[in-house]
Amino acid sequence: MPDTCRIIALANQKGGVGKTTTAINLGAALAKAGRKVLLIDMDPQGNASTGLGLARSDRRSTTYDLLLGNGKASDGVHGTQVVGLDIIPATTDLSSADVELMSSTDRSRILRRRLKELLQDREEYDYVLIDCPPALNLLTINAMVAAASVIVPLQSEFFALEGLSQLMLTLREVRGSANKSLRIEGIVLTMYDRRNNLSQQVEADARETLGDLVFKTVIPRNVRLSEAPSHAMPVLDYDPACAGTKAYLDLAAEVIQREG
Ligand code: ADP
Ligand code: MG
Repeated sequence: MPDTCRIIALANQKGGVGKTTTAINLGAALAKAGRKVLLIDMDPQGNASTGLGLARSDRRSTTYDLLLGNGKASDGVHGTQVVGLDIIPATTDLSSADVELMSSTDRSRILRRRLKELLQDREEYDYVLIDCPPALNLLTINAMVAAASVIVPLQSEFFALEGLSQLMLTLREVRGSANKSLRIEGIVLTMYDRRNNLSQQVEADARETLGDLVFKTVIPRNVRLSEAPSHAMPVLDYDPACAGTKAYLDLAAEVIQREG
């Protein structure tokens, strides 16, 4: 795999914590900074695909085809309205890939292998972001095996830290088997409400127990972030001046800073 391309999985087995929102908007912010980004939608719900404006009828070839080995690995690459941001979209059939792959001997390394093919074919990408489903299933394991690092979105609410131990256990297992060098890129606090004591408490706890693993940037709760997908665009284009846009630009700057 070209070592200039950074492959980052967005993972947390909890749903609704901001994985997809972060995948779309971090992707768009990295593209705005001049990086070439490929987003892989690994969630059968296909929210990242919809949020970037890909109608179901436009999804010619998908993550399902990528994993099942149908056609060339780069067949699934679709352009988006955002310059510098491409996507391999998902449809609901991806949920059966989980079952179909079970019988394969190399079942956790399929995405890794296909992505290697893809990046040999398409050398232009600086980042591949993988939007994982809300489960520690075979799809998420494939993402972790293919990735160099993981970004964990953590919702700023009570019990947020409790789910982390299960995730950390899975990361350790992947490190012990198929991907020794897997790193945590960072943990990003999402839906942060600075007027809420609970948000502040979660942040303090996270910084105390996880230290530098927690990104300095926190993503505020911002209604523009939840509206943007229904307009089929990243928040950066939907409302360039809002707090959500600023936060994701800051997060991208931090990720870029960690490149070196
Ligand atoms: P996940 O992919 O982890 O399931 P999503 O990114 O889809 O989570 O977010 C869940 C819901 O919360 C979505 O409706 C999304 O628009 C909304 N949301 C995510 N982040 C924020 C935020 N920072 N402020 C407001 N709403 C948000
Ligand atoms: Mg999602």
